[in-house]
Amino acid sequence: MEKEKILTWLHLFADKVSENNQYLSDLDSAIGDGDHGTNMARGTTAVIDALEEKQPETVTDIFKLTAMTLISKVGGASGPLYGSAFMGMTKASMQTDDVQQILASGLAEIQKRGKAVAGEKTMVDVWVPVVSALKENTLTADSITQFAEATKELQATKGRASYLGERSVGHIDPGAVSSSYLFSTMLEAGVI
Ligand code: ADP
Ligand code: MG
Ligand code: MG
Repeated sequence: MEKEKILTWLHLFADKVSENNQYLSDLDSAIGDGDHGTNMARGTTAVIDALEEKQPETVTDIFKLTAMTLISKVGGASGPLYGSAFMGMTKASMQTDDVQQILASGLAEIQKRGKAVAGEKTMVDVWVPVVSALKENTLTADSITQFAEATKELQATKGRASYLGERSVGHIDPGAVSSSYLFSTMLEAGVI
């Protein structure tokens, strides 16, 4: 993993989240409390500020600073979950350069914290197929979008949306969409 590409990726991700702040919150208004866009935009903006201020030297330090910033600034359910993802990536990046393994470690930490498996209408429904597709070399920008859109048909059994039961069906999960941005910008930056 090249440091410059990782920085490009995190900038593109922050831009994408800010541009879609309202859309992410609208998705969350339908099945949650309507704050996912503002939560994520606050967090990713803080990540860019922290990177500029601290100038981390290595990929591991970049991931660690990103994790700590997301945990402290995003809040809600998604802050600790994205923070866990970047902590898992931090740990893996000390052992390997392999993007697939690094993302698999991020996913493992999300699942350790949130206990969600695929099919529960969460960000895990994007992370799981992305990690698999990377292993099989079949990941495309279109497939990433489709993974997020496929959460529409699912009933939420984790997080705030689960309170709605069957009424959660028919709406795309906001965290799945923000995760799709994480991966589409990764492709754009040439990290994967
Ligand atoms: P909150 O629900 O606390 O307001 P956000 O709105 O920022 O937090 O984030 C909601 C998103 O978090 C959901 O759309 C879902 O993708 C994700 N999420 C919630 N609970 C879990 C969980 N247990 N595992 C994985 N992702 C989860
Ligand atoms: Mg919310
Ligand atoms: Mg909230």
